[in-house]
Amino acid sequence: MDVILVRKPKVLILGAGYGGLMTVTRLQKQLGVNDAEITLVNKNDYHYETTWLHEASAGTIHHDKARYQVKEVINTSRVNFVKGNVVAIDKEAKKVKLEDRELDYDYLVISLGSNPETFGIKGLKEYAFGITNINAARQLREHIEYQFATYNTEAVKRNERLAIVVGGAGFTGIEFLGELAERVPELCREYDIDQKNVRIICVEAAPTALPGFDPELIEYAVNFLEQRGVEFKIGTAIKECTEEGIIVAKGEEMEEIKADTVVWAAGVRGNSVVEEAGFENMRGRVKVSPELRAPGHDEVFVIGDCSLIINEEINRPFPPTAQIAMQQGETCAKNIAALVKGQGQLEQFKPDIKGTVASLGESNAVGMAFGKKLYGTKASFMKKMIDNRALFMVGGPGMVLKKGKFKFF
Ligand code: FAD
Ligand code: NAD
Repeated sequence: MDVILVRKPKVLILGAGYGGLMTVTRLQKQLGVNDAEITLVNKNDYHYETTWLHEASAGTIHHDKARYQVKEVINTSRVNFVKGNVVAIDKEAKKVKLEDRELDYDYLVISLGSNPETFGIKGLKEYAFGITNINAARQLREHIEYQFATYNTEAVKRNERLAIVVGGAGFTGIEFLGELAERVPELCREYDIDQKNVRIICVEAAPTALPGFDPELIEYAVNFLEQRGVEFKIGTAIKECTEEGIIVAKGEEMEEIKADTVVWAAGVRGNSVVEEAGFENMRGRVKVSPELRAPGHDEVFVIGDCSLIINEEINRPFPPTAQIAMQQGETCAKNIAALVKGQGQLEQFKPDIKGTVASLGESNAVGMAFGKKLYGTKASFMKKMIDNRALFMVGGPGMVLKKGKFKFF
């Protein structure tokens, strides 16, 4: 009698961020050991909360608070975890190349997050810092502290050492400024520096900070930050970054701002691996089908910052957020489980946007949540609940107790 060996389908998930971990933690419940071979690949053996990186970068929290081991939230008897750097995807051969090996797949989930969007601006890659991952956050925090520590050791005091430029007043820029406004007075006390010598300058190209957000909340956030010493240069674009600082333009007028710290927080694009793999994309983001699949590749799901979905109400892409990445992870897991089990129709993804809340340091924030405007301690409470919910969704109550934010007022 002939024995027919049926190979288990291979499900390969790239990236253990919000999208990847939501997919894996759902899939490991929805598929049995005999249904599929599930593999998760991530650059590091830890997951980090990208949404907390502004705090780790300013040094208002330790970077370890913003990360945990991937193995703490996956079931290692169901999921193989591979620590590795994805360098290429061969979508025709259905293979993924890591630095040290190759993996093949029947179903692929691309959830590799974003890269900074530098718009080809000269000098940014060489001289500016980014708020992009744990390594970058640690480096930026140490760089700022080094400037403060060095200032009083020099015979000729250079105030440029104490000048910090933040490029972009989007949500990342504003949240980072909120942390800096708290950290700088601490650094001044620690290193015997008069805060009058410190400059925090935010340069925003659009006619307003937080473009597209509620005008009253923008005014609240900008006033709050200005009162804490942040200078805003609105309607001003960074044109070049140099070893000494930045060159900006407001209309025809050019200005050089000298600063030893320049932080680029002016937008993101999808992970370069996606573009290099040859998927149709817009700034590294694949416009996915309602089932979250890449056009022409039904076996490839793309979620999170690597994906692009259109908000039909305004006919523009949804801004990439953790909120959407996590919801996509749930749909993606359901759809892969259905395909593996050969079950009927796939779920169509519909984002359920509950709101947006931006922190302004430890105890202030601004936001719209469930259709309501919030600011002050209420908004800050809401922001911490959102952060805790994200931990809960992936790691359950244990992870909330371990890493959660409980200092509410
Ligand atoms: P990520 O969560 O970034 O995960 C990507 C994963 O892929 C990482 O683990 C990374 O290490 C891994 N990876 C990357 N490249 C490779 C590779 N080549 N090989 C192997 N592994 C790789 N959104 C909100 O909804 N609310 C917020 O409050 C909010 N705050 C934010 C604050 C900051 C400072 C920033 C920067 C962003 C914030 N966002 C927020 C946006 C949100 O963080 C992203 O939209 C979200 O992280 C996207 O999820 P993801 O799964 O696509 O990617
Ligand atoms: P963004 O694209 O939202 O904002 C970037 C800002 O930089 C824009 O205001 C833009 O006008 C400005 N800019 C661009 N080029 C410039 C230049 N040359 N000079 C000066 N300014 C310039 O990017 P982001 O803030 O990094 O956010 C990325 C994504 O993450 C967004 O989808 C955002 O909604 C999300 N996010 C959400 C939160 C939150 O919900 N609390 C926090 C951070 C990020």
